[in-house]
Amino acid sequence: MSRYWSDHVAGLAPYVAGEQPKVTKLLKLNTNEHPYGPSPLALRAIQAAATDQLRLYPDNQSTALRVAIASLHGLQPDQVFVGNGSDEVLAHVFNGLFRRAGRPLLMPDITYSFYKTYCKLFDVPAQLLPLADDYTLTVSDYTQERQTPVAGVIFANPNAPTGIAMSLEAIAQIASAHPDAPVVVDEAYVDFGADSATALLGRHDNIVVIHTLSKSRALAGLRVGYAMASKDIVAGLNRVKDSFNSYPLDALAQAGAMAAINDTAYFDQMRSAVIQAREALTQQLATLGFEVLPSRANFVFARHPDHEGATLQQALRAEGVLVRHFNIERVHQFLRITVGTPEQCERLCNTLAKILTNQH
Ligand SMILES: *Cc1c(COP(=O)(O)O)cnc(C)c1O
Repeated sequence: MSRYWSDHVAGLAPYVAGEQPKVTKLLKLNTNEHPYGPSPLALRAIQAAATDQLRLYPDNQSTALRVAIASLHGLQPDQVFVGNGSDEVLAHVFNGLFRRAGRPLLMPDITYSFYKTYCKLFDVPAQLLPLADDYTLTVSDYTQERQTPVAGVIFANPNAPTGIAMSLEAIAQIASAHPDAPVVVDEAYVDFGADSATALLGRHDNIVVIHTLSKSRALAGLRVGYAMASKDIVAGLNRVKDSFNSYPLDALAQAGAMAAINDTAYFDQMRSAVIQAREALTQQLATLGFEVLPSRANFVFARHPDHEGATLQQALRAEGVLVRHFNIERVHQFLRITVGTPEQCERLCNTLAKILTNQH
């Protein structure tokens, strides 16, 4: 800690990202990147945008991209807010919607850990509501009458790191119970098999749906995410953005993201491939004795009754296979494994089989 830091900075709890190794031999199943590359049309669009025009500032409203996103989801362009990855969009959501005079933000105890990081950064008190024993979210915890008003609600659907999805009925109930507070649904993994709450936006003007191009569009390196909500909420987010950085998306990112959004054929093909590989991986892990939570994401969350998660993670690391382990209460037995290609999943399972035999 430095004497130049403010107390605020000293008190932060920064997010710890999964390892990005410098060597390429490792099998990387630790940060939920897509095993297949992005749309070739997106790569071509990025190359085509790398011209002398880069001396100009980009469109600070990403108009063409927002039009493409709106059309994909059947919304109006002014219902779409884009940012430099959905983490940045989330930061603006916390700053712009959740800082409400010390009111608490409701969220599951086990979910995307960045939410707690942002609570610290923006001084939003978190009220953690424990998931049930089967790691599903208990809707009545969110809909019950409260003495004091809340700042809002946030959860991921499918949830991270469990992969478990919830129904649109459940989300609608939560939104109805908090008509005066934003209910934010982080749908980073929704394309791998859950229902999108964008279908609820017409009836619930407090719902905010967050998407990213990092997972299902295989563009984690491009940094593009977006929020979809009522025009009012989007206008508020734009006020925050324009008080912070009015050019969050560079010209290459806008061009590539738009081409990726428009290439629906490639998108459908690639997500089916990942879903198929996930189902096969779930089966293979079960055969090895793992309990695998039902996943609607591009990762599985699995535990072995006889082996600690941390031990397995380290043994896999020694064999060149990276997976994620969270040293947190209730889930430290688990590994979070990104779904790779069928060949990658096979290497993972063969390595695990070897480790399980050796450790007995
Ligand atoms: C990966 C992820 C994000 C962040 O995505 P970026 O757009 O790459 O910043 C947000 N929320 C959840 C739940 C994620 O898993």
